[in-house]
Amino acid sequence: MSLLVVGSVAFDAIETPFGKTDKIIGGAATYIALSSSYFTHKVNLVAVVGGDFPKADIMMLEAHNIDTQGLQIKENEKSFFWSGRYNNDMNSRDTLVTELNVLADFDPVIPEAYQDCDYLMLGNLAPKVQSTVIQRLKKRPKLVVMDTMNFWMDIAMNDLMETLAMVDVLSINDEEARQLSKEYSLVKAAKKILEMGPKVLIIKKGEHGALLFNKHQVFFAPALPLEEVFDPTGAGDTFAGGFIGYIASTNDISFENMKRALIYGSAQASFCVEKFGVERLVNLSQNELNDRVQEFVELVQFEINLKN
Ligand code: AMP
Repeated sequence: MSLLVVGSVAFDAIETPFGKTDKIIGGAATYIALSSSYFTHKVNLVAVVGGDFPKADIMMLEAHNIDTQGLQIKENEKSFFWSGRYNNDMNSRDTLVTELNVLADFDPVIPEAYQDCDYLMLGNLAPKVQSTVIQRLKKRPKLVVMDTMNFWMDIAMNDLMETLAMVDVLSINDEEARQLSKEYSLVKAAKKILEMGPKVLIIKKGEHGALLFNKHQVFFAPALPLEEVFDPTGAGDTFAGGFIGYIASTNDISFENMKRALIYGSAQASFCVEKFGVERLVNLSQNELNDRVQEFVELVQFEINLKN
């Protein structure tokens, strides 16, 4: 089934306790599209970059069967730039720079060939742009998944609330869930957020796994305990790409299938953090992915005899 991915395609500069990068390619849609490309070969991208964005990186995306006819190139402008620094625990980070550049007035154009998409993944972007994409699709996709972050909660809360009312699944981290709901308990937060529009909520908790909620059920997927986390940038987007990619490839939007999708998302995220930027994501093999998913199965499998 075809998947439309919308979000930032960017330059990132990252500092972790293990090192520092100059500008490397990043962006929510980059991670999502790469991650989902391991599940479905019909990934279509709508995004914008400046003339400074390397053609070789666009070709790298195309080599992963990602269709880039929806990637606008503004020759005389600069690409979105984000810079972040991780603290020693690698679970928290400070944003050092957000330069919107081409994203400041991004008008998403959806090529005719993308109009019949079955699944839509709205990666991190201004909520107004995310809702515009939904409005510009002539047919509503089978499932609309959305990611967002505290940056947009701080500066565009009203737009965010409007967009939230239009989507099926929201994927955010624990800190963002608390900010959005004004509740500390994640169970209470989930209840409140599920009243805002989404029928399903994913709360990512970094190295502590991810929770999947609907109004009546909850499911938990652990994160794989790794000896070394090198760079967590993009892990949340990579997770979302694995989640929606698996759902698009199985064409099943039941809660049961979403549980499996959560495991695939977690497996993809565990690869992402092993190297800087998208480095680890660009050449994964099916065997590596299968072995990783098997590790998750073994991690949570146990037998128990309840006492009478
Ligand atoms: P994650 O680590 O999953 O939160 O994603 C990090 C990615 O999000 C980086 O590659 C950034 O380029 C991108 N990003 C950071 N801030 C924003 C923003 N305000 N809008 C869109 N993308 C962003």
